[in-house]
Amino acid sequence: MSGGMSFELTEDQQLIRKSIADLAARFDDHYWMAKDLAHEFPQEFYDAIAGGGWLGMTIPEQYGGHGLGITEATLLAEEVARSGGGMNAASAIHMSIFGMQPVVVFGSDEMKTETLPRIVSGDLHVCFGVTEPTAGLDTSRITTFARRDGSDYVVNGRKVWISKALESEKILLLTRTQSRDEAAKPTDGLTLFLTDIDRNHVDIRPITKMGRNAVSSNEVFIDDLRIPAEHRIGEEGKGFSYILHGLNPERMLIAAEALGIGRVALDRAVKYANERVVFDRPIGMNQGIQFPLADSLARLDAAELILRKATWLYDNGKSCGREANMAKYLCADAGFAAADRALQTHGGMGYSEEYNISRFFRESRLMKIAPVSQEMILNFLGSHVLGLPRSY
Ligand SMILES: Cc1cc2nc3c(=O)[nH]c(=O)nc-3n(C[C@H](O)[C@H](O)[C@H](O)COP(=O)(O)OP(=O)(O)OC[C@H]3O[C@@H](n4cnc5c(N)ncnc54)[C@H](O)[C@@H]3O)c2cc1C
Repeated sequence: MSGGMSFELTEDQQLIRKSIADLAARFDDHYWMAKDLAHEFPQEFYDAIAGGGWLGMTIPEQYGGHGLGITEATLLAEEVARSGGGMNAASAIHMSIFGMQPVVVFGSDEMKTETLPRIVSGDLHVCFGVTEPTAGLDTSRITTFARRDGSDYVVNGRKVWISKALESEKILLLTRTQSRDEAAKPTDGLTLFLTDIDRNHVDIRPITKMGRNAVSSNEVFIDDLRIPAEHRIGEEGKGFSYILHGLNPERMLIAAEALGIGRVALDRAVKYANERVVFDRPIGMNQGIQFPLADSLARLDAAELILRKATWLYDNGKSCGREANMAKYLCADAGFAAADRALQTHGGMGYSEEYNISRFFRESRLMKIAPVSQEMILNFLGSHVLGLPRSY
C-alpha cells in the first residue's frame, strides 16, 4: 500500500469482507447456541473457513497462504464475530489467522515447511501456551522449565487458560531455559517451542467458564515432556522478544472480534427496540432505550477508526504500539457496553438464552481481561506513551 491512510477499504478488502460475511451467515444462531451449550468445538464452521482458504490469509504464499496483512485478518475476525458466531467463531480460528507469526518470522525453514501448509489446510490445530497460575500478567515470572538434555529438552511445568489445548495437536510453548534470577534481564532466558502435545506427558483439563464454551480453555500439566531441539523457535533465551513481535497484531485481532460482537449486539437491539411494543409504542421510541444505542453506535465507530489506523500502521511497517493498545482498549469497552445495552433493551428476554444476547454479553466481557487486561493497556499508555513513572 502506498500514500497516506485512506478511510475506504480497497475493492479486494471489501470483497473479503463480503465473502466472509456470506460464508459465516451459513451458521445461524441455532448452530452457535447448540455448540455453546454442548461445549462442542464448531468443526463444521472451522472446516468451512478452511475450505474457503481463509485460514491461510496471512501465511506467506510460498507455504500455501495468501500473504495478506493484519488489515485483512481483522476484517475476517470482525465479520465472523459479527455474524453472530461471536467469540466461539473467532476463537476457533484465531490462532491460525495470526498466531503462527512467531513461526513465520523466526521459525526454521523445516518447521515452516512442515507446519504452515497444514495450518492453511486446517489439518493442524495449534494452541498458545503462555499463561501460568502463579505468574499472571507478569510473564517474566513463568516457571515452566525446559532443561537441555543432549539433543532434546525436557520440560516440566503448568499452564493455565490454554484455549483449544484439547483440540490441538501442537502447542506454541513459552518456557524458561534459565531462571529469572540468573538471567541478565527478567525477560531474558525465556525460550519458545512449537512442539507436539504428547498426551503421555501432558495432562489437559478444561476449565468451567462463564462463556465461549464451544472452545475449551484448559489447565495444562506438563510432566517430563521431551522436545527435540529442532522444535525450538529461533535462539534459546530470546522467546520473549519473539512473543512481543506478535502482541500488537494479536491486540488488533481481539479488538476486531470485540467490535464484531458489539455490532451484532447493537443490530439485534435495534431490531428488538423497533418491534417490541410496550405502553402502546415501540420501546425504541423511548429515549432511555434509544440514546444508549445511539451512543454505542458512536463509540463502536470511533473504536473502529483507531483499529483501522493501527492495522494500517502495522501493514505499512510503522510503529503501532500506541494505536494497537488503544484499539484493544476502546473496542473491548465499546463492544461490551453495546452487549450490555442490547441486554437491557431486551428486558427479561435479554436474560434468557433464547435471544442469544446473553451469549454476546458473556463473550464480550472476555476481551476486557484477555489476552491482556484493560489495566495493563493503561499501564502501557501511561508509562510508555505519556512518560509517567511505571507503577508496577
Ligand atoms: C477464556 C480465556 C482464554 C484464554 N486463552 C489463553 C490462551 O490461549 N493462552 C494463554 O497463554 N493464555 C490465555 N488466557 C489467559 C489470559 O491471557 C489471562 O487471563 C490474562 O492475561 C490475565 O492474566 P491473569 O488471569 O493471570 O490475571 P492477573 O495477572 O492475576 O491479574 C488480575 C487482575 O489484576 C490486574 N492487575 C495485575 N497487575 C496489575 C498492575 N500492575 N496494574 C494494574 N492492574 C493490575 C489485572 O489487570 C487483572 O484485572 C485466557 C484467558 C481466558 C479467560
